[in-house]
Amino acid sequence: MSDSVAVALRVRPLVKSEVERGCRIAVQRPVDGIPQVTVNCSDSFTYNYVFDSSDSQQHVYEACVRSKLKKLLHGYNVTILAYGQTGSGKTYTMGTAFDGVMDDNVGVIPRAVHEIFEETAAMEEEFHFKITCSFVELYQEQFYDLFSPNKREDSTVDIREDKNRIVLPGLTEVEVKHAKHVTDQLMRGSSGRAVAATAMNETSSRSHAIFTLTVVTTRKTGQKTVTTSKFSLVDLAGSERCSKTLACGDRFKEGVNINKGLLALGNVINVLGSGQTAGYVPYRQSKLTRLLQDSLGGNSITLMIACVSPADYNVAETLSTLRYADRAL
Ligand code: ADP
Ligand code: MG
Repeated sequence: MSDSVAVALRVRPLVKSEVERGCRIAVQRPVDGIPQVTVNCSDSFTYNYVFDSSDSQQHVYEACVRSKLKKLLHGYNVTILAYGQTGSGKTYTMGTAFDGVMDDNVGVIPRAVHEIFEETAAMEEEFHFKITCSFVELYQEQFYDLFSPNKREDSTVDIREDKNRIVLPGLTEVEVKHAKHVTDQLMRGSSGRAVAATAMNETSSRSHAIFTLTVVTTRKTGQKTVTTSKFSLVDLAGSERCSKTLACGDRFKEGVNINKGLLALGNVINVLGSGQTAGYVPYRQSKLTRLLQDSLGGNSITLMIACVSPADYNVAETLSTLRYADRAL
């Protein structure tokens, strides 16, 4: 296993609709202290971290995100991805739909943003920091700039490769001076994020949302070295297969495209996780992996948080997520 890719599994508590349906818990954590889960007391899987319903947002953050942030300020690109079926806790975990209230329920993005500004403030004597953020949505293999002042149909952006760097010409980059400035932007962007109702969950998201903080660090003393690092936070589209959401027509097309991104991501992470990075890494298979090309592999630290429901009703999807996450190790 490579050090650059880590996988965390998060099992959320039963939600109200599952309790009302009479669901039973089908995902067990057999031995305390070992990052392992068992489904229906038979198939077991081991990851770098396992969190269950008793683990708070703060615990998840401290256990697996904080140490990666330290790397960000030392010039590494850091990528955190949330994977799982709709309703499994991706948005809750990432904090993509932050509502402005800094309470115990706040997810990864607002926590990380606060910490980044605290850390950079403490390093200001020696370094100058320029921090910008952008927010894109990837829907049916098309990027939308969530910070664009334009109407949605006029907010599309292309992706290009320029001297081995991935660029989205015209994408809005907002320079941010403090944490609240970032979270205000996040709220503005996520309110514009497209959601389409499916039979599973009225607000289920059929698109990937990618929030990026770019930190340019200049050393003030001695040799003026400049480093650029990117912090990519990805709330992936629901991983469920089309059949369960009763998808058809346009919805079905969405499903096909979404799976293309998730499939390509799985293939890329699989190669990176195996440590065989000298060989071919299939970044070009989808727009999602092209976008993340310089943030996965190479000088990057990747954490995938696989989210699952504990309910027996969702066992098929849970097993599919567990297997996907297993391939990343
Ligand atoms: P997804 O983004 O994967 O579709 P959500 O993050 O919207 O799923 O979560 C679905 C529901 O479950 C939400 O009501 C959310 O608040 C709740 N939820 C998810 N994870 C947890 C958790 N770890 N603890 C408490 N509630 C959670
Ligand atoms: Mg969501």
